[in-house]
Amino acid sequence: MSLPEVLPRVSRTVDTEWADQVRALAERRNAVVLAHNYQLPEIQDVAHHVGDSLALSRIAAESEADTIVFCGVHFMAETAKILAPDKTVLIPDARAGCSLADSITADELRAWKAEHPGAVVVSYVNTTAAVKAETDICCTSSNAVEVVESIPADREVLFLPDQFLGAHVRRITGRENMHVWAGECHVHAGINGTELTAQVQADPDAELFVHPECGCATSALYLAGTGIVPEDRVKILSTGGMLDAARSVGARSVLVATEVGMLYQLRRAAPEVDFRAVNDRASCRFMKMITPAKLLRALHDGVDEVHVDPELGARARAAVQRMIEIGRPGGGE
Ligand code: SF4
Repeated sequence: MSLPEVLPRVSRTVDTEWADQVRALAERRNAVVLAHNYQLPEIQDVAHHVGDSLALSRIAAESEADTIVFCGVHFMAETAKILAPDKTVLIPDARAGCSLADSITADELRAWKAEHPGAVVVSYVNTTAAVKAETDICCTSSNAVEVVESIPADREVLFLPDQFLGAHVRRITGRENMHVWAGECHVHAGINGTELTAQVQADPDAELFVHPECGCATSALYLAGTGIVPEDRVKILSTGGMLDAARSVGARSVLVATEVGMLYQLRRAAPEVDFRAVNDRASCRFMKMITPAKLLRALHDGVDEVHVDPELGARARAAVQRMIEIGRPGGGE
């Protein structure tokens, strides 16, 4: 099968024929196709596994497949390569970056460490392999609090890169010797408290699912604290945690504060619940760079391959392994 034979069909319609081609090429390559929760619905439907970043990386590491095709953004494919260094890892478009991961470089982190000798570095999983290699312990949104609490109280902590997750952790732990990097995700930062408050007032019986990277995480906790929304209706959750919670939701409607691709899996998990986005413009353009045609090209041509320097990868892996040992790491973004 030559590529020119298959690509025009994809551009006309995404159909079962395209899905059959993806599966056939995956089988020929002994590849497993992984899709993040924020991917386009057709990519989620054709993938062998759909989930959050860490869960997918763990599947990559345990898979019998020779090749991992990671439909997500670049740092996620890198994390899969860090945990599965002997496998070939492909991403359908290597330009699919992440504004949060790009908000700190390894050089900037080294300079920050030099200003705080002896501090313990805690990095959220949305970071490049080079930054993870400079990190003591990685964390997810599910175990960030436990990771910080595991560090002796007299040690300074450098928390990066997300300022909203950092603020959430500082509020819960009450830790004053924790410095937070001023990074943010442009998509999550755009989900703000004003929109959230308006939607809560319009639907006071709704539950709230909030990703802690959201600009509205603070507002959600405030609304709970003031009793506007009963505390048990506000859930600060990773994307994987949202899916688990969807299966046991008590309300008829749920307001969801994260990237809009998440709604597809939530509606599939609990079709009787009305899941609505707090901000329906919160779409990650990097996630949507992975298209059906590019997935086919990746499987056909074996591109774009993700490389991580082995020595750097070993240091990054140690930080990720420490994260997995602490609390319930959940799945990250
Ligand atoms: S939604 Fe934000 S944090 Fe997630 S991949 Fe896109 S830019 Fe990065």
